[in-house]
Parts: sequence; C-alpha cells; structure tokens
Amino acid sequence: MSAPPLLRVRDLCVAYGHPARGGVEAVHGLSFDLEPGEIVGLVGESGSGKSTALMAMLRVLPPPGLITGGRVLHRGRDVLAMSEEELRAWRWSEVSLVPQSALNALNPMLTVGQHFGDTLRAHGVGDRAERGRRATELLRLVDIDPTHLDSHPHTLSGGMRQRVALALALALDPGLVVLDEPTTALDVVVEREILQRVVHLQRERGFAVLFITHDLSLLLELADRVGVLYSGRLAELAPVEVLRQGGRHPYTQGLLAAMPQAFSDRQPVSIPGAPPRLGDPPPGCRFHPRCPHAEARCKQEEPRTRPLDRGQGTAHLVACHLAESLPPAVIA
Ligand code: ATP
Ligand code: SF4
Ligand code: MG
Repeated sequence: MSAPPLLRVRDLCVAYGHPARGGVEAVHGLSFDLEPGEIVGLVGESGSGKSTALMAMLRVLPPPGLITGGRVLHRGRDVLAMSEEELRAWRWSEVSLVPQSALNALNPMLTVGQHFGDTLRAHGVGDRAERGRRATELLRLVDIDPTHLDSHPHTLSGGMRQRVALALALALDPGLVVLDEPTTALDVVVEREILQRVVHLQRERGFAVLFITHDLSLLLELADRVGVLYSGRLAELAPVEVLRQGGRHPYTQGLLAAMPQAFSDRQPVSIPGAPPRLGDPPPGCRFHPRCPHAEARCKQEEPRTRPLDRGQGTAHLVACHLAESLPPAVIA
C-alpha cells in the first residue's frame, strides 16, 4: 500500500458565523493533496478565501470562523479531530505557519531570543546553552545577525520580522511550512526575496511548502504546483508546466493574461468585472458572469473540482464544465 500524502484535504468548508444563522461560507469543497517536499502555491484575488483555508487546515482559525465540513489528514492523521494538547505538540514540530503579518506571530513583549527559547523549550529541546546555539544558527539561516537575539520585534524592519518568523517556523524542522503572503506588510521585492530564501532552504532541508501570494509570476518561478482559488472554490490546481502553457480553467487563463510579461510585447489584459460578494453569489459557476466561455449550463450547475486527466491522479484538478473542450490559452 502506498504511503498517504503529507497533507490530504477533502471537501473542506469554512464559514464565518453559522451559514444557517446568517453566516457566510468563505471556503467550499476544497480538496487537494500535498506530497512530501513539494512546493505548492495558492493564488487568488483578495477575499477569495486563501488565508481562511490555510488557517482552517492548521486549526488556527479565529472566531467567528467555523469549519463546517470536510477532512484534513496530515500523514493520515485526522487534524480536525486532534485535541488542543495534540495540536500543541503537532504545531511547530510537524507543521508551522508564517502568518500574513509577522507581527501576529511575534509577541511585542519578548525579545527575538526569548521567542526561540520559549518555542524550543516547549518542545523539550536541549538545555539553555543548546537552545541559544540553535537560535543563533536559525537566525544565520535567514541572514539576520545573532546580535538581534536581544532585540524586540518592533525595533526590526518588516522584512526582518518576517525572516525571524520564518526562522521560528523552521526551529523544530517541520515537514511542512505554510506561509501566508507577507505583501500586506511588505513590498513585493521583499516578499520575493523571502520566498526565494524559503525555496533555497527547502532544497537543503526537504520540507514541503504551501504558500500564498498575489504574485503569479513568482509562483511560476518557484512552485511545483499552483492552486487558483476563486470565491472560496479551487478553480484549478496544476503543475507549473501546465500553467506556463496557459492552464485549463478560464479564470486561470484570465490571471495569466493579466500578468505583465518581462520578455514579450504582449500587453497585460485584466479580467473584466469583480469577484462576487460572499453573501450574494451568482448561481451555477461563480465565475460565469466574468467568463468568456459561459454557456447555459454554467449559469445553473456548479462545477465540481475534479482531476482533468484521471491517468495522472490528482496532480491536475479543475472545476469547469468545459475544461476538456476549451482550447488551452496561449499566453506567450
Ligand atoms: P487577502 O488576499 O486579502 O488576504 P484572502 O484570500 O486571504 O484575501 P480571506 O481573508 O480568507 O481572503 O477572506 C475570505 C472571505 O472571508 C472574505 O470575503 C472576507 O471578507 C471574509 N472574512 C474573513 N475574515 C472574516 C471575519 N472575521 N468575519 C467575517 N468574514 C470574514
Ligand atoms: Fe466558464 Fe462555465 Fe467553466 Fe465556469 S464552468 S469557468 S462559466 S466555462
Ligand atoms: Mg489573506
């Protein structure tokens, strides 16, 4: 029997407030697998449910967020059934999160060194001297001078704080590192620099990475596969080679066409219209009001996320009624 994937997400549904009592569903029917050592990126417009999905998977979703359905398995273990105590042991050592704002990961009252000391001590790592050595080594990994072990987070720049959060996430050598995009706090150049560093470390240490960014060109450069979220649904999840050839979902094709091209004269073309409001979505395929290929069926029936080519397992998923019949877009 083959080993289970590192992470298996099936039909994950997440709402803010209970949907039966006026809440809105922010993520619906999310399913995908992540293999050990794989780098998967998530992209989607603001509000498409990227952070909600990540926080739900890691059980760090704050109220009124609510997981209303689905399963999350880590190495075959049911994450949604873990007790608080099991979650505490699981986080950091097996999976760690670098949140959208590093300030959320760092306590303003503690020095950088105290953050490392607390995390390592809570997981029973070494004595004080050993923890100090490990913290120094981790800061060097992310190119921060160890003199900053005595600094408080607010004295560091946004980029340095994000790198400290990354070093903390790596402290216990987890098999999966999850990063929410730091662009709200940082400029895109710093984000690119941080993600390039993550990939460099990933190649040395072999952990899997799941990361969110608005920067599709960065994903095409660094990821193995990319998931495209639209209005809380996975529109497409595909290997980057497939996306470099244009993708199969009309929304993916729209995002690719909207991407500035560094080495071509092609002008970026943005997708007309705006994403739906969560409380008042269109019927059928949520993308249909913006889709150039929409047919009558698209307005009535919501497409399910399914493997495009069953022979390739779940590596390439798409949620479009016409995915097999539409020609691949040419984006060069
Ligand atoms: P961004 O790119 O801006 O970070 P995102 O894709 O991460 O966006 P989420 O933050 O996951 O999007 O939000 C998904 C949806 O859930 C949005 O419509 C948002 O308004 C809604 N939402 C998020 N947090 C809450 C909350 N605390 N209460 C109610 N709705 C929320
Ligand atoms: Fe467009 Fe229809 Fe596919 Fe939705 S299901 S993306 S509307 S073609
Ligand atoms: Mg977000």
